[in-house]
Amino acid sequence: MRPFDTFVMVDWSAARDRGPAPKPDAIWATVARAGRVEEPVYLRNRRVAERWLAEFIEAELAAGRRVLAGFDFPFGFPAGFAERLTGRADPLALWDWFAAELEDDGSVNNRFALAGRINARFPGTGPFWFNGARGDIPFLPRRGSERHGHGMAERRAAEARAPGSFSVWQMGGAGAVGGQAMTGMAALSRLRARLGQAVAVWPFEPPEAPVVLTEIWPSLLAEAVQAATRPGDIRDAVQVRVVAAALARLQEEGRLEEVLAAVPDEARAEEGWILGVGAEEALREAARAVAGAGLVPPRLKDDCFAMPQGVAWVPVDEALARLRAALHPVTGRERLASSRAAGRVLAADAIARRANPPRPNSAVDGYGFAHAATGPGINRLPLVQGRAAAGQPFEGRVPEGYAVRILTGAILPEGVDTVVLEEDCATDGLTVAFDGPVKPGANTRRAGEDVEEGAVALPAGQRLRPPDIALLSALGIAEVEVFRPLRVAVLSTGDEIVPDPALPAAPHQIWDANRPMLLALVERWGHVPVDLGHARDDARAIARALDQGAREADVILTSGGASAGDEDHVSRLLRERGRLTSWRIALKPGRPLALAMWQGAPVFGLPGNPVAAFVCALIFARPALSLMSGAGWLEAQGYTVPAAFSKRKKPGRREYLRARLTPEGAAEVFRSEGSGRISGLSWATGLVELPDGALDVEPGTPVRYLPYSGFGL
Ligand code: AMP
Ligand code: MG
Repeated sequence: MRPFDTFVMVDWSAARDRGPAPKPDAIWATVARAGRVEEPVYLRNRRVAERWLAEFIEAELAAGRRVLAGFDFPFGFPAGFAERLTGRADPLALWDWFAAELEDDGSVNNRFALAGRINARFPGTGPFWFNGARGDIPFLPRRGSERHGHGMAERRAAEARAPGSFSVWQMGGAGAVGGQAMTGMAALSRLRARLGQAVAVWPFEPPEAPVVLTEIWPSLLAEAVQAATRPGDIRDAVQVRVVAAALARLQEEGRLEEVLAAVPDEARAEEGWILGVGAEEALREAARAVAGAGLVPPRLKDDCFAMPQGVAWVPVDEALARLRAALHPVTGRERLASSRAAGRVLAADAIARRANPPRPNSAVDGYGFAHAATGPGINRLPLVQGRAAAGQPFEGRVPEGYAVRILTGAILPEGVDTVVLEEDCATDGLTVAFDGPVKPGANTRRAGEDVEEGAVALPAGQRLRPPDIALLSALGIAEVEVFRPLRVAVLSTGDEIVPDPALPAAPHQIWDANRPMLLALVERWGHVPVDLGHARDDARAIARALDQGAREADVILTSGGASAGDEDHVSRLLRERGRLTSWRIALKPGRPLALAMWQGAPVFGLPGNPVAAFVCALIFARPALSLMSGAGWLEAQGYTVPAAFSKRKKPGRREYLRARLTPEGAAEVFRSEGSGRISGLSWATGLVELPDGALDVEPGTPVRYLPYSGFGL
């Protein structure tokens, strides 16, 4: 079987569409491809879902990719049902029958009436039941217990083996599988007609075609879904992510074929089968792995940046606290060889596999012996044959009253607890002499004195530096669990911007300073920069760039167009389509910070002014990105120095001045506070932070200096 490139999972719904706001019980779909699980797509009704699915699959086919698509509704009914309706025991003929008979505008459908009409063809009462309509429907009983004599089995063979699953005959209420099956089969019948030979329906057809449709019951993976769910998450959205990721994982483990093959022959003929029933453990193991490994990273809420109404100016510290509360790590996890993990962030504590040092050893080159046999004054101990060296342990025991030649790093031989330094000894090759008394245990290293076995060697959240790699290796930790790198997209906006300094610029144009600066910052901070280029002040162009950013990155930084002016297209677009909250932060330089969500990706709208963009990136973006990458929140690091300047600072806004230290260690500031003066950023080696309140600074006044290095630069 050729491997699948793309896994799609769709959580279907027969419910009525009541508006554009995401509803928990609407249709959710997600895609797992190339080791990543994408944000679930909200599909507000069946018509939207059907079009999305067809277009998505066509695009995958055009790109030469093979697709496995899973759906959470039954692909068949209990044996005998298809023949009664279509004259043939063919489940796919039944799909076409529903496509022809069901009236569904995508939101409202006639499934209850249709269930009644079907019941009329059966003897007795049933098999369908449950009436979601107010008035009575001919032949459709309201309660399951009213049914009798219709001759159909209550469950398919697959459902009989899936405890907790619902019967296909129930048309409404909790567990209304019947309505989902009818609407779903009708939709997939049209998809088959559209895609023709490219599609195979499992298990009725062999899973060899470019596109394979399968039935999956996500509740099989309830435990993993639970583990991947955070408070406030929409369950169906989490569910599709877990299932899609688990299928991809199964294939990676080479177990997908086995799971696709676990179908009884009878089920292939008419009833169909639930993928994973009969191979539950394989599927669950894969799901546990992806949920536990955070391959399904939790997403941020669309309203995570909401500000309480009526907030005027937010002090910097409050803005930082809010940002910190709104965010959490958003990237998945993976296991990496420790030697390749420098720069990555630990997603789980690294635990010492054994103690360091594993056994007591000698800290010096010298002579080892039992302390008990020594005393004050000159000690003379006969030497035993042989020696103890690093990597060449001394075999056997050193009797009390004897000494042994020992080298740095050698395990203390049995009978040795103390070592004297070679320089403090005299020896003729047979005896060793040294001055007493010596301290018991002198010049030795205790087992585990560095790290005990089982101890946390490095905590989750640690960004691994070269010495950390040494420690991991020393403790026998060959592999670590790390977060996938945070991908940070950067976009510049503005009609006046020329994206590349190699291009000519007219006098009314300026070369893009922010994007190269922000991309370089992102890289310095250990994230993966994604260059979105430059967009003109045009909503469509900006939206296209943001779309790309949401697809290819975890976070988007924009600069320019972020305040409320006429030309500020970024904030207008984000307000209309991205749940924008403008945070009016009492900060200079820096206008409002625009925070929004674009298709699941947080957007930080930084000021256009390069000085303000830089300061806002350092103060706000740096800790926020760090938190999202799994490395935790970061405080700016600084210290107090005397001022080498004078300034009357007004109350109200916290100010950041471009500054550097004089040879005497006082902070001087750039000659101009003009925020267009990019040269001042290069002149400076850090920032002076002046508090929110008023302050008269004279030479010698203590001020807080934040060196660039404290921002990781
Ligand atoms: P805006 O926030 O778009 O009103 O821009 C404020 C100021 O920053 C204007 O003078 C812009 O020309 C300038 N600016 C905006 N984006 C950039 C950029 N990427 N590089 C350099 N200057 C910029
Ligand atoms: Mg602009």
